[in-house]
Amino acid sequence: MFRYARVSVIFVVSTLLISPLVNAKTRDSSVNITQNSPKNATNFTKQINNAYLSELPFDDQDDFKDAQRGFIAALPDGVIKAANGDVIWDLNKYSFLNADEIPDTINPSLWRIARLNMNNGLFKVTDRIYQIRGLDMSNMTIIEGNTGVIVFDPLISKESAKAGMDLYYQHRPKKPVVAVLYTHSHVDHYGGVKGVVSSEDVAAGKVQIIAPAGFLEEAISENVYAGNAMGRRAQYQYGAFLQAGPRGQVDAGLGKTNSLGEITLISPTVTIETTGQKLTVDGVDMEFQMAPGTEAPSEMLVYLPQFKALCAAEDLTHTLHNLYTLRGAKVRDANKWWKAINIAIENYGDKVEVVFAQHHWPKWDNSNIVPYMKKQRDQFKYIHDQSLRLMNMGYTPIEVAEDIQVPDAVAKEWYNRGYYGSVNHDSKAVYQLYLGWYDSNPANLHPILPVEAAKKYVEYMGGAAAVVKRARRAYNKGEYRWVAEGMKQVVFADPKNTQARELQADAFEQLGYQQENPTWRNEYLMGAFELRNGVSQSSIITASIDTVNVMPVDMMLDYMGLCLNGPKASNKTITYNMKFTDSKPQNYAVTLENGVLIYTANKQYSNSDVTVTWPKTSMIAILSGATTLDKAIDSGNVTLTGDKAKLQDLFSLQDHFNPQFNIVTP
Ligand SMILES: [Zn+2]
Repeated sequence: MFRYARVSVIFVVSTLLISPLVNAKTRDSSVNITQNSPKNATNFTKQINNAYLSELPFDDQDDFKDAQRGFIAALPDGVIKAANGDVIWDLNKYSFLNADEIPDTINPSLWRIARLNMNNGLFKVTDRIYQIRGLDMSNMTIIEGNTGVIVFDPLISKESAKAGMDLYYQHRPKKPVVAVLYTHSHVDHYGGVKGVVSSEDVAAGKVQIIAPAGFLEEAISENVYAGNAMGRRAQYQYGAFLQAGPRGQVDAGLGKTNSLGEITLISPTVTIETTGQKLTVDGVDMEFQMAPGTEAPSEMLVYLPQFKALCAAEDLTHTLHNLYTLRGAKVRDANKWWKAINIAIENYGDKVEVVFAQHHWPKWDNSNIVPYMKKQRDQFKYIHDQSLRLMNMGYTPIEVAEDIQVPDAVAKEWYNRGYYGSVNHDSKAVYQLYLGWYDSNPANLHPILPVEAAKKYVEYMGGAAAVVKRARRAYNKGEYRWVAEGMKQVVFADPKNTQARELQADAFEQLGYQQENPTWRNEYLMGAFELRNGVSQSSIITASIDTVNVMPVDMMLDYMGLCLNGPKASNKTITYNMKFTDSKPQNYAVTLENGVLIYTANKQYSNSDVTVTWPKTSMIAILSGATTLDKAIDSGNVTLTGDKAKLQDLFSLQDHFNPQFNIVTP
């Protein structure tokens, strides 16, 4: 994984880019926390978790059979290492999941998916279709052509993908990879591509890279602009600083966790544009269904008629998926999603014999597949329609989310459980898509800042000691959400209030233990961890160099615009002619004025303050702090005419974001 010299300029390009730094120094010395290790489950938590055992059909073991069906071989030790010896994947830390008894600190339904996601290795899906599962968060599918193999979605890291191919070749004929297909624009579906093929072979035309329309732009854009915030929030979603264990990280819903190797990207050579489009690769017929705006902005399903197999990309999995992702992202449209599944049913429902996705295990036999597709479709449609019905009755997001109950016939299917999305936060996504952040109550139109409000709330409630005393009573009654609510005010009014921090951490922890959804669990347990230990100052996140290299100049300039410190820049007016020697369009006219950076491609000013000629890579290197403007000029990579100080201004006016900002404390 590429790391810039400074953490201040960072492009988060991944939904999953986090790295658990368990030895990170996290203790905030200004807070005297006495109990910072995880605690037992309370009786309330045990009762809530136990209730799941009678509410859900645990006798139905079909998924365990399906998840093992076609198993050929696993990695000998469950560990994948980078060239320098760093462990980038290790399933051994999850050996606690082999226990016969479910720990009372883990929701039984979560325990179930966490065990299912331990199935790992090479699997046969059907003749000529194989899958690598459990070597990363996602699956890699290998399809055997006449002379070579076609790889669908080469995992997150180069190292995982290579380990997967090695495992495949140990058990199947060593035929070359003739094509790679990316089903969609998320990093867990392309990042390992250079573990499977080389960019030289792609450039030489020996390997095709097939992707849906809009792939490249979406792959690099989704998290660039809000990248720093999203990266920090992703630490909560995936439990980045939690130890794996019964009181820590257990699973990530779509898989165990993300691998930590090198993220790579090779640009597509073949773009798929329309539903019904066909392509034959090395004797394998493919028919495509476009599904943009469903799980990803650029996504497609692939039907393989010779094998009666449907690759569902990530639109059909063994969980209710996210309409909103807790790390933060633009919300997804349930209306587009149910329609995509419906089209797949209409087109292939009468003939498909196996559906495989790029997470979890396949579904076999038409009689099982069609009800599965229908009920996944129906859950999205139900959440969409009923959220809107309740919104139209005047309910606000919190009320909508509490009110929606998906019918049991749909909701109790294991593949519809909320292991990644949840009915609660997905219905809020519907509200957000249609009505946005404001609930129309003017008391919420211009709310008071959190710290100011917290101080007044605590004062109104009789002071911190009184609030903590009452919250302790609530804790003893199992009212953990109330404790979290009350202690949020006390902690924000005074983050040094140790009693409040400890009590809120204890409440978060019990809430975490109760969650069926591993991302909700991770959120709560990360909150508890940081209240007890402070925020880790170890920073993470990076962009892969491949991704930055394919980023268009427009996007780089957008990024520089949003890093610009508006107040400091507001009294400057500077014009730049920029000529990029390594990209097209080559010429940009750029203006800094009124605190904003405005650019127009294919234009040059007749008279600019500075004219600079450089490769995009030099601009990135200066921006990231890897070099300075002067050094870049000395090295001959950058030439300029006009006022150099005014170019320097552009860089010195860039803000550098703290990747480890506070969340549960002000
Ligand atoms: Zn994925």
